[in-house]
Amino acid sequence: MNFNIAIDGPAGAGKSTTARIVADKLKMTYVDTGAMYRAITLLTIRHNKTNPEDVIKLASEAKIDFKENRIYLNGEDVTDEIRNLAVTEKVSKIAAIPEVRAALTKLQRQIAKNGGVVMDGRDIGTTVLPDAKYKFYLTASVKERACRRYNELISKGYKVTFKQVEKDIIDRDYQDKKRDFSPMAIADDAIIIDTTGKTIDEVVDEIIGCIKK
Ligand code: C5P
Repeated sequence: MNFNIAIDGPAGAGKSTTARIVADKLKMTYVDTGAMYRAITLLTIRHNKTNPEDVIKLASEAKIDFKENRIYLNGEDVTDEIRNLAVTEKVSKIAAIPEVRAALTKLQRQIAKNGGVVMDGRDIGTTVLPDAKYKFYLTASVKERACRRYNELISKGYKVTFKQVEKDIIDRDYQDKKRDFSPMAIADDAIIIDTTGKTIDEVVDEIIGCIKK
């Protein structure tokens, strides 16, 4: 496939699982842009840096690669560590720094320049790949999104309560929405899919159905 697919939506809407399966089925490359923002956030935590200048320096020097659905930060596999609560709580703030967004947007466009990419995030259809051939915006109720995230974290062995996860989803929605440049905007040409009450397979079929039309 020489075209790109953008999948956007709020935290816990099922974007990553859906995007990964869609990419597998269409033999395309899956790129999780949330993981990239998380990797930069992890780096700032490790270096104990919070002021924007230091964060921007770290972000501009960081090397991020994807291999077989794993993410590498400066050569180290950080796929599991970027999901921890410390990263999750801080990521929206780091992602709100315009220079950090500019650095990652550039990298994301480079990865997608030859097509064949399914990219998920918040601003893919509106900003990163406005020319993507297909754009989807996945959403679901807060309860459902919190439930999915909670089950995912528990199954991976994280010790969290449902209340914590629900609060995180509400806080991140708020943080992500209130930014000036509003990366939560929905592209005019995006197909909106409410995934509440739907299985991942149903959502995947809906997306693939749209692409095959
Ligand atoms: O997708 P995920 O929930 O892992 O993303 C983590 C955070 O990264 C989001 O809450 C958001 O603040 C930020 N993000 C972003 N733009 C993207 C992808 C993620 O600002 N394209």
